[in-house]
Amino acid sequence: MGMFCPKCGSILIPKKDNNRKVMSCPSCSYKDTKAGESKLGGKVRDRQRDIEVVDRRDELETLPKTDAECPKCGNGKAYFWMLQTRASDEPETKFLKCTKCLHTWRDYN
Ligand SMILES: [Zn+2]
Ligand SMILES: [Zn+2]
Repeated sequence: MGMFCPKCGSILIPKKDNNRKVMSCPSCSYKDTKAGESKLGGKVRDRQRDIEVVDRRDELETLPKTDAECPKCGNGKAYFWMLQTRASDEPETKFLKCTKCLHTWRDYN
């Protein structure tokens, strides 16, 4: 079941070309490009990249707000959340983030 080169009559040998099998002639530059196409069916797989989009502003909207004066811009509202510091015997630290300029600071009280 050998295939012959239509140009020079040599027996075509399978060769890899761009990750697909192509029947090519060892004597001349002839390549039977159609031979390998049926196998792949022209499938081109686009790799979907998983890009995690984190909308920080959206995340902030879920935080509770409190009345606190921003030391940077003087805005009277701030988001707040509690965080445990390194030492577990220490009380939780309250963090505040200005709703206007997003400046973050710690509430030591
Ligand atoms: Zn040939
Ligand atoms: Zn501010």
